[in-house]
Order: sequence, then structure tokens, then C-alpha cells
Amino acid sequence: MNALDYLAIAPHLHNCANCGSETIGNGKGSVSIEETSVVRGCDCGFVFHFDTTNGTADSIVKQSINTQLDKFKEDSIGI
Ligand SMILES: [Zn+2]
Repeated sequence: MNALDYLAIAPHLHNCANCGSETIGNGKGSVSIEETSVVRGCDCGFVFHFDTTNGTADSIVKQSINTQLDKFKEDSIGI
């Protein structure tokens, strides 16, 4: 992805939306950047996947995080 898109999303990738962990690397958290998407994985099991083709405005990224976090929590409870 281009640098502007990455810079818009990066602040949202710093902390895991589920557990707040800042760890990236050391076999715990991870960030994978593709051409039109970014994936932020965390040791707690939450994986945030964002597709930049829908835009990278703050509100869009936050909405996407909330939707995926709700889904993640529902799945966790459902097991
Ligand atoms: Zn986490």
C-alpha cells in the first residue's frame, strides 16, 4: 500500500483492540502489510484485517475494528 494509507492506519495498529497489547514481534504480535490490506495479529488471538480499498479515514478504520472485535468476542463466548 502507499505510505499515506499506511500512515493513516498505523496509529490503529499500535495497540491490540482486544487486549491493548503493544507487542509486535518476539513471536507475539504481528503486522503484515499487503498491496491493499493490512493484518494485525495479536497473542490474545484477535486478528484485525483491514482492506484499504474502502478508504482509510479514521471513522472507517474504527468502525472496522469495532465490527471485528464484536465478532471476535461473540466467537469467544460461543465456544
Ligand atoms: Zn490482543
